[in-house]
Amino acid sequence: MNAETQTKNSPLFSKTVAGPHNFGAGPSILPKEVFEEASQAVINFNNSGLSILEVGHRTKLFQAVIEEAVSTLKELMQLDRDHEVLYLHGGASTQFFQVPMNLLDEKALASYTDTDIWGTKAIKEAKLFGEVEVVASSKDKNYSYLPKDFVVDPSSVYLHVTTNNTIYGTQWQDLSLFFNKKIPLVADMSSDILSRQMDFNKFDLIYAGAQKNIGAAGVNVVVVNKNCLGKVNRQLPTMMDYRNHIEANSLLNTPPVFAIYICMLTLRWLKNKGGIVEAEKRNNAKAKLLYDTLDTSSVYKGTVAKEDRSLMNAVFTIQNPEVEKEFLQLCEKENMVGVKGHRTTGGFRISMYNAMPYESVKALTDLMKNFEQTKA
Ligand code: PMP
Repeated sequence: MNAETQTKNSPLFSKTVAGPHNFGAGPSILPKEVFEEASQAVINFNNSGLSILEVGHRTKLFQAVIEEAVSTLKELMQLDRDHEVLYLHGGASTQFFQVPMNLLDEKALASYTDTDIWGTKAIKEAKLFGEVEVVASSKDKNYSYLPKDFVVDPSSVYLHVTTNNTIYGTQWQDLSLFFNKKIPLVADMSSDILSRQMDFNKFDLIYAGAQKNIGAAGVNVVVVNKNCLGKVNRQLPTMMDYRNHIEANSLLNTPPVFAIYICMLTLRWLKNKGGIVEAEKRNNAKAKLLYDTLDTSSVYKGTVAKEDRSLMNAVFTIQNPEVEKEFLQLCEKENMVGVKGHRTTGGFRISMYNAMPYESVKALTDLMKNFEQTKA
């Protein structure tokens, strides 16, 4: 829930609630307007008398939802006619194998970058379907930087990149590095999609679990250039073939209706807030505030190379374990939730997705500075 959640119209909430500041990595904060409207829709969707939870996926009511979810995403990403938008099941983890299943023949080669646990998982799945070469890895230094000096075999059918590394807190800032390779690009954008401007049409395929910048858990978004499909020799199960989902407008079977509805509301919110252009400005301001706090501190220590820092997930440590524990307790007491680092990295991780208000990052950095003073 956002810092201040005022639910004017909902019978469920009768007053302003000072909610927690939610820095969780996902499922994560969504705009309070989305929570408000969605809570209404559970009771009575668009004055239909029906709950959104009981609306059939082939009804006119849901048709309008999915159409808006697709068209708003296309508009926000400025997609050309070749790029199709799909809302699918199975989370980003299903895309780890659905992508190579659709694009990589048994004897063909795909190139992968290995810059986080998620990239490693994608590589493992791709190896089930064809040849895989890891062209760049930062495993040697515990994923604390991004390896930029790498060569890609020109025969690769695609190059796979994780644009933002959610666990370790790095993000590729200059994507021209990939564009220049002149190889079809596939990107896992689960944790930074719609957070910054880029030419999305330069990618053959983009996938993202929705539960960070797009909406609720239970659905993932795939943006695919339809011209790259239908080239592999293997037989594909019906549900795994992107072409079937394109043909069925993401209604091949019962889709996650409520999760798609939340995506539609979140995308509508983003559009009304000035789209990706304005989101990027807000994200830059939040990240600057947080990283400036780390850089002027003698207690907190950022864990990744400065030039590769993620604007979405900032990871840092406190050297003294006793002080670390104390800091965590203070965060809990002050209603700052989701600040604990991933179980593999330890330390702290502050996620600042699109819906995170500047005020929440300000409240956290004030707390960090005050805490540091007590340690001086
Ligand atoms: N890729 C990245 C970059 C992620 O951050 C995550 C989840 N946090 C995943 C993939 C896996 O997503 P899912 O849980 O939706 O399968």
